[in-house]
Amino acid sequence: MNLSIIIPLLNEEESLDELFSRIDKVCNSHNLSYEIWFVDDGSTDLSWSIIENLKVQYPQIHGIKFSRNYGKSQALHAAFARANGEVVITMDADLQDFPEEIPELYDMIKTEGYDIVSGWKKKRFDNVMTKNIPSKIFNAAARSISGVSLHDFNCGLKAYKKQVVKSIDVYGDMHRYIPVLAANAGFRKITEKPVQHQARPYGSSKFGTERFVRGFLDLITLWFVSRFGGRPMHFFGAAGTLMFIAGFLSAFWLGISKLIDVSRGIYGHLLTNNAWFFIALTMMVLGTLLFIAGFLGEMIIRTNRQHENYHVEEVI
Ligand code: UDP
Ligand code: MG
Repeated sequence: MNLSIIIPLLNEEESLDELFSRIDKVCNSHNLSYEIWFVDDGSTDLSWSIIENLKVQYPQIHGIKFSRNYGKSQALHAAFARANGEVVITMDADLQDFPEEIPELYDMIKTEGYDIVSGWKKKRFDNVMTKNIPSKIFNAAARSISGVSLHDFNCGLKAYKKQVVKSIDVYGDMHRYIPVLAANAGFRKITEKPVQHQARPYGSSKFGTERFVRGFLDLITLWFVSRFGGRPMHFFGAAGTLMFIAGFLSAFWLGISKLIDVSRGIYGHLLTNNAWFFIALTMMVLGTLLFIAGFLGEMIIRTNRQHENYHVEEVI
């Protein structure tokens, strides 16, 4: 099978029939065999019964129904695990993405050998203030922190080599950063393709402005995890040790100066009157805690070790 097309959806009843017929048309005209995975992420409208109806008529359609709304990342995760096509395409269900882009995305993966081709909504039809401008800032931050140079990380329309989706673990709200997850997993042939975009014809966006706060926190997590996730001692251990040594030296120096005072016959200067006493104490306590955090991190990695957290490109 050439293609698995994955469509996460939440209350998109108006779009599904049109979406399917456009996908079917474009794939047939390019002789591409395909399967579709609709993932109903807890819809409360008629979406699921529309999918059931389609399934009866078209065996290439599959559906996964979540018992409640878990989020787009979980929806993608569920379908990634089941996808059989050589190339996996994800797209939104709201008709903002154009199914007509699929053949070209497929070719870029198959013939040009990319691991991921990410859509780039170069000309975007969303609200300028609430979406377009925040999203520009956001993408710039994502580029500089992750080192993956894409203009539009969060575009719903993307194509992947099958192996990529089988190797990455999309959790939480990480669907925004799948290219970063893939790059961290060793898939470096990532590119983008300007794609058409249109205003949402039906319904309204399922993500509010909290998306930017969450997205930013996830970005920090990703940066931290990709840098130190595999070796927490290098961060916590180093910081803890430095802090402890600084605290210890300060305390040592306080003790010595007290002794010098005493030897000169000066009494009555209580150590606790000196601010450094408290600073030294705090540094030693914090240093120890940081060290322990790093140590516990290492222990957790040891017990949870995933044997395949690397990606072998070739064995001959
Ligand atoms: N979606 C989903 N689960 C959610 C939120 C959204 O499956 O919790 C789907 C939604 O139905 C759509 C896609 O994810 O197919 C993108 O959502 P939306 O169009 O609301 O996002 P936007 O285009 O505003 O970024
Ligand atoms: Mg949309």
